[in-house]
Amino acid sequence: MSASTNQVNHHKVIILGSGPAGLTAAIYTARASLSPLIIHGPLAGGQLTTTTDVENFPGFPEGIMGPDLMQLMEQQATRFGTTVAVDTIVKANLSQRPFTLTGQSGTYTCDSLIISTGAAPKYIGAKNERELLGYGVSTCATCDGAFFRNKVIAVVGGGDSACEEASFLTRFASKLYLIHRRDSLRASKIMQQRVFNNPKIEVLWNKGVLSVEGSKKDGVTGLTLQDTITKEESLLPADALFVAIGHTPNSSLFQGQLDMDENGYLLHKPDSAETTIPGVFVSGDVQDHVFRQAITAAGSGCMAAIGAERWLEAQHG
Ligand code: NAP
Repeated sequence: MSASTNQVNHHKVIILGSGPAGLTAAIYTARASLSPLIIHGPLAGGQLTTTTDVENFPGFPEGIMGPDLMQLMEQQATRFGTTVAVDTIVKANLSQRPFTLTGQSGTYTCDSLIISTGAAPKYIGAKNERELLGYGVSTCATCDGAFFRNKVIAVVGGGDSACEEASFLTRFASKLYLIHRRDSLRASKIMQQRVFNNPKIEVLWNKGVLSVEGSKKDGVTGLTLQDTITKEESLLPADALFVAIGHTPNSSLFQGQLDMDENGYLLHKPDSAETTIPGVFVSGDVQDHVFRQAITAAGSGCMAAIGAERWLEAQHG
């Protein structure tokens, strides 16, 4: 959508991002008659669109495909009057009211802004890693671990995420390999100890993943590893690879305008979705490096929407 004047592009509420956080914020603000505008980039639906079966979202006892869940949420949001614009926002000005968002196709202004831009998992860059995403390669143990009961699982990474995912995945795995590129873990001592004390986990030190073996039909069958010191290559038979080398919050638009932690996650006031700028709220993975679940993102989207609704009411009566 693009329009020629600020008048047309002005909305009481703009929601940036169309994952579960943004869409839940849209459902709530739309039902509050605020006619929100959701702006998302070329790919709607956020990280869930790269997930296959979602088995842990309440209300779907048989599970639901990630993209289907997002489509249903969007239908629910538009039913109550949400408008959707596909645009890539390249600049945000939160220093003046109304807030201004400059996109590649248009300029948008709003009284209240809900930022639900999500986070992107980092990838290692191994051959076939992206092709087999959802077919044995995953970036989310909580989402996909249960598909690999009694299977050999590999986790790559050496931080808290990798150790946490590795420990969690031993509930399912017959054997778990933690693959790390150095000879010591970056994770906190307690997480490291959990890994070292777990008889199912074997740490493969000084190893990088060159290539994921397998196909969409057969899933992952193994990994080609390379020793980071000797450069020797080896084949590790495995049924799944979980990439856990961290996430990057999509917050760079707000650098210097909103408070962030040292990793770029947006900060909000305790027990609320409010930022230090009145009228600007945050929800979903862009402000959460701890839980990162569709349901927690949706919950925080609801908090941001109710926050925005109350804030607007206090402004305009
Ligand atoms: P992280 O601490 O940045 O660790 C990333 C790990 O991945 C590092 O071990 C790094 O190796 C490795 N890595 C990075 N790029 C790689 C590549 N291209 N190929 C192979 N390995 C690569 O990220 P994180 O574990 O996601 O943690 C992020 C933050 O969230 C941290 O502050 C962490 O404490 C926090 N967190 C906390 C919890 C918890 O407390 N329950 C759980 C998860 C995360 P090097 O070590 O060689 O750099």
